[in-house]
Amino acid sequence: MRKGKLGMPRDRYRIEMRMVFYIIVLFAIISIGGIFLGGYKWPFGFIVWLALAAVAVFILVRYHSRHTTYTCPECNENFRVSTLIDLISPHKSDEKYLRCPRCSKRNWCKETANRK
Ligand SMILES: [Zn+2]
Repeated sequence: MRKGKLGMPRDRYRIEMRMVFYIIVLFAIISIGGIFLGGYKWPFGFIVWLALAAVAVFILVRYHSRHTTYTCPECNENFRVSTLIDLISPHKSDEKYLRCPRCSKRNWCKETANRK
């Protein structure tokens, strides 16, 4: 496998960079939205802002789940997870605690870029 910057495979690096970009853009939208909506008719402005933030997080996690596959350490099965599972599963650096759809074992599965 060819390695790109930061020792990550090229595809993985590209997706990570896009994720960082999206996080910055979403953070900017949430912050600016918070400033505008914060002073507007409490608690209406806050609720709108909260909904906006939730949608932003959902879009981000959805993007992540669509572009990431996981590899089971037991049986080497590659699989994708739903947006909801991606959101609620424990996560550490490049691994996620998931149940393998083939062998049904719970494990720290390694993230790999989805080449589609
Ligand atoms: Zn497995």
